[in-house]
Amino acid sequence: MSILKIVKNGDPVLKMIAQELDPAMIKTAKIQQLIFDMVETMYAAKGVGIAAPQIGESLRLFIAESSSGPIALINPIFSNISLKKSNDDEGCLSVPGHFDRVKRSKHVDVEALNMHGDKIKFSADNFFAIVLQHEMDHLNGLLFIDRVEEQKIWKK
Ligand code: ZN
Repeated sequence: MSILKIVKNGDPVLKMIAQELDPAMIKTAKIQQLIFDMVETMYAAKGVGIAAPQIGESLRLFIAESSSGPIALINPIFSNISLKKSNDDEGCLSVPGHFDRVKRSKHVDVEALNMHGDKIKFSADNFFAIVLQHEMDHLNGLLFIDRVEEQKIWKK
């Protein structure tokens, strides 16, 4: 396993809409290695989530720390996104030293493929839901600081 370089704010890969990962590719050595390396990189950086674009791979794949350890979510889709929002401090491994409040839904249902290529579905609440939404944003070319800006504009 190896620790990968985390790309920082300003790198164009962070602004791209990431590509769906071909399910037939999930079990390849390349993707399995990528998943293990992303987990190791996330822990080394003391993060609770890391998305593929953050290590320079524009793929719809992220790792999130769950109550039962790290999970890989591939081609994730949200539903039942709650209107009830939290407004908590967030940071990002790609935006070092910066923290700000972001409004996020308190609940989401998630459907995705796991690292074995199996379909999984679960509900997430509160902190875990926030992590998932933050990582999903990375797959859509958004950083949390973009959300902060957007929310300031709406307040005006
Ligand atoms: Zn981030």
